[in-house]
Amino acid sequence: MSLQKYKCDFSDLKFVQYPVGTQCNICCSFCGQKKITYPLHSIESIRGKVIPLLPSIDKIFLCGGEPTILNSAILIRDTIIKSKYKCKIGMNTNGLMFCDEWTDNINIFYHVSFSLNASNEARYNKIIAKSDFNKVVSNIDKFCKKANGCESPIDIRATMVVTADTVFDIYDFVNLYMSLVYIMFFLFLSMATDSLVLSMPLARNKKQLY
Ligand code: SF4
Repeated sequence: MSLQKYKCDFSDLKFVQYPVGTQCNICCSFCGQKKITYPLHSIESIRGKVIPLLPSIDKIFLCGGEPTILNSAILIRDTIIKSKYKCKIGMNTNGLMFCDEWTDNINIFYHVSFSLNASNEARYNKIIAKSDFNKVVSNIDKFCKKANGCESPIDIRATMVVTADTVFDIYDFVNLYMSLVYIMFFLFLSMATDSLVLSMPLARNKKQLY
């Protein structure tokens, strides 16, 4: 029996969610991926399995680990930019390395969710090692300013994993984001495995939210 029979037809595929790897450049106290050691995707396998999908799909969502430090995510980003594909990127990032090489081509994004998880530097440093609160906030701010002039709306979110240590910081977290000049926001709580995730869409105007 030929396996040819079971070949999939991807011609109608418009969205791909791709886990780029579990590796991360910071260390959150609540991280569920600490003990996971999946090997990195090889560049060859990405070239063979993911890159060929890019010309025809509308969106690819990169989740990690931390996409900004992973070659797989960088290759996907650079291919979309170089080939001028219409495919847009959505991703979760901790924001530390979300700098110009990611944000200079603002029109490649449809969604970015920043995992900030704290409302101030002292709390951030307590629950997150190997990072820099002020740099992350600055990167978020710069990205949102660029996104304001973007051709198509980008869904920009900030998230906070609410643990026993940070449950009383929710109000300050909301205030922090309001102080980043965003005039419209809402929030919702959703159940994670052993914590709550607070997710706030950030936008400067209605056009960006809807
Ligand atoms: S940013 Fe995400 S992947 Fe990285 S340590 Fe924190 S929870 Fe884990």
